[in-house]
Amino acid sequence: MNDLVATGAARSSQPPSTSLTPHVAVSDTVSTVTTVIGAIAVVALLAVLVLMARQRREVRRANEALALSRELRHRYDALQSVTKEGALVSSLTGKVLDMSERAAAILGLEVASSNGRQLTDLPIVLVNEAGLAMNPAAVLGHRTGTGHSGFTVDSELVGIALPGGAQGQARMVQVSSQLVPAGDGEQPAVLTTLVDVTGRREVEAALSRSETQFRVAMENAPIGMALVDLEWRVVEANAALAELLGTSVAALRGYPMADLGTPETRDAEREEVERLLQGSQHRFSLEKRYQRADGHLVWVVLDAALVRTPTGAPDHFVVQVRDSTESRLQAEMLTHRAMHDPLTGLANRTLLQEVLQSVLEQPGVVDRVAVLACDLDGFKEINDRYGHAAGDEVLVHVAGVLRAATARRGTVARLGGDEFVVVVQDIDGPKAVFEVAAAIHAGLQEPVRVARRRLAVAASIGIALADPDMADGGAPAMLAAADAALYRAKAAGRGRTEVYDPTMSHISGAGLQSELAGALEAGELVAHYQPIVDLGDARVVGYEALVRWHHPYRGLLLPQAFLPLAQEGGLAVQLGQHVARQVVETVARMPDPTKWVSVNVSADQLGDGEFATTLLAEISRHRVMAGRIVVELTETSLVASGTRIRHELTQLSAAGVPVLLDDFGTGQSPLSYLRDLPVAGVKLDMSFTSGIPDDPTAGKVARALGALARELAMVTIAEGIEHMEQADFLHRNGWRYGQGWLFGSAQPAQSVLAVSPSA
Ligand code: C2E
Ligand code: MG
Ligand code: MG
Repeated sequence: MNDLVATGAARSSQPPSTSLTPHVAVSDTVSTVTTVIGAIAVVALLAVLVLMARQRREVRRANEALALSRELRHRYDALQSVTKEGALVSSLTGKVLDMSERAAAILGLEVASSNGRQLTDLPIVLVNEAGLAMNPAAVLGHRTGTGHSGFTVDSELVGIALPGGAQGQARMVQVSSQLVPAGDGEQPAVLTTLVDVTGRREVEAALSRSETQFRVAMENAPIGMALVDLEWRVVEANAALAELLGTSVAALRGYPMADLGTPETRDAEREEVERLLQGSQHRFSLEKRYQRADGHLVWVVLDAALVRTPTGAPDHFVVQVRDSTESRLQAEMLTHRAMHDPLTGLANRTLLQEVLQSVLEQPGVVDRVAVLACDLDGFKEINDRYGHAAGDEVLVHVAGVLRAATARRGTVARLGGDEFVVVVQDIDGPKAVFEVAAAIHAGLQEPVRVARRRLAVAASIGIALADPDMADGGAPAMLAAADAALYRAKAAGRGRTEVYDPTMSHISGAGLQSELAGALEAGELVAHYQPIVDLGDARVVGYEALVRWHHPYRGLLLPQAFLPLAQEGGLAVQLGQHVARQVVETVARMPDPTKWVSVNVSADQLGDGEFATTLLAEISRHRVMAGRIVVELTETSLVASGTRIRHELTQLSAAGVPVLLDDFGTGQSPLSYLRDLPVAGVKLDMSFTSGIPDDPTAGKVARALGALARELAMVTIAEGIEHMEQADFLHRNGWRYGQGWLFGSAQPAQSVLAVSPSA
């Protein structure tokens, strides 16, 4: 094309002709050539432009393809990083073409150092399920049968031995292969996928292990066990259940559970099973009787739980059957013991109250029911002179007399000490009860033989006949009436019988109250002393004074029997002063000047300053060091309202008499008192001590209160310690001192006066 242009140009450069005609012909030729040359040039230019555009398009397409391929690789890598499957691509000749990170991790290899290597050169040891080594090329590469592309041939479980791992410790991998087409007619490649199934295998192994364990546990369990279907029929049972029922495991299979038991609890059992199936409860426990193959009945406790499938559908029941025959007998014995007096075998107070109450609740009790209260005359003297063993023999003898006198007409009970009660139930109540009373007196005519002695014993008897009012008042009203009559009989002399009439109303309480004033003057109210010890070494550091009433007829009365009467009768303050005087005098005579004594004082004995005045006067009169007398504040619920009480306590504390909060930890003694009152120490209420060690809450509270008291630098004393275990626990948990029957009960003053200083 350039030649043409050059030729045209050469031709057009010839000099112009001068003749017109030849000149015209020449010029036409020239113009034609020029036109042709121009056209050729344009065509050439266009061709160049088209070529360039095509070239640019091809470059752009190539770039797009490259970006797409990068993007695909990226996605592939991302996919590989999240999938649990590892992928390995190898050639048919066993050369690793590509390997995902996951595959490398499963095989324990590096991607970079593995690509391009022969499968047989990879540093891995493959084993089959029998533990025999396998050829990596045969497992991971082209396998016979890996025929059609895109078709997974076979999948094999392979172990990869862990470097340094014990034999048998291999990672279990599921390996599958398939042929994938390669581009441009090249040889196809082998795509191998690897899935680590070690965890799954372990779970399966654990499941089968626990199934075996359950079966073995069930077969060998010492109590009866059964697997029961949803129809409540035995599917499988163990030997213990078969033995309990006197039959064989084979005989039990398919047997309806409900038919094992006696009919009376069948409905209850059915209902419980239904409740399990409905999901309103997860397990149930039922005590019932099963009939053995030999016809004998056994008591059992049945515990059943429903097992559900993973989707929550009921599957089967697991049932435990425990022989409870013996524990039931024991429970019955315990109930008997709880309801009877161990010495005489008679009913005790609890049983008597129950019997009386149920008798009184029956229709037509008036004139059919009577209560007879009986108390021995001079029993205390027998005890004091001949000892407790002799006293016990007398009580047993008297019990026999009462039983014989009552015969089948009622129930005889011993309430404690020498107090007996007979509940008489007869068509003719009044006649029967008088006959019983007469028979008792007659039976006691004969002296009791005790330790080769013949002791004369007599009893006083009070009788209450049920009338409509008393029947309404129930057991307490009947017992109080009989007691009032007894009191009258006692006051009248030995061996008498009195019948209750309403003029005796509350005679026992009223009588005691009126007697109390005289008792204070007669010196019948005396302090007994209970040792308080250092829990670290059990050394006695002091005593608590506890008041007792040596009652001429009733024997030794404890505070709860008369303190409320003293308060009602306005004698509380006087009683407090009486005890205070006695205690200071005793302390002054105690041989060991290091020991102290605490005196109880209740809120109603404080407020008018009389208690503090008396106590401080006695302390200075006897020249006792103030710190040796300690005051225990009991029944403190009233204190909060009384600024005067606080004032009196402050007066004592200022004079050197420490004040302790009694019954600490109960509602009687709120924590705020620690802040509001001049308190030097606390006494842990015995309800917490008695809860140790069985009641965890009691232990926790004791520990927390101990920590609190120590934090406030208070003296800590725990009460009611009966066992060494309690003492140890309390000592470990911040209680420095303790008292209780473990260390000694309250004893008369002689006990503390006789103790030498070194003791
Ligand atoms: P408290 O001050 O808490 O006295 C402790 C009570 O527990 C005493 O009962 C004591 O005999 C009893 N006790 C001691 N160790 C044990 C043990 O190991 N186990 C058990 N279960 N009990 C044990 P008591 O003598 O019947 O006194 C009862 C309450 O009467 C006293 O409780 C105190 O609040 C009050 N009290 C006693 N004497 C007086 C007094 O002179 N004046 C006043 N106002 N109240 C008194
Ligand atoms: Mg006390
Ligand atoms: Mg107490």
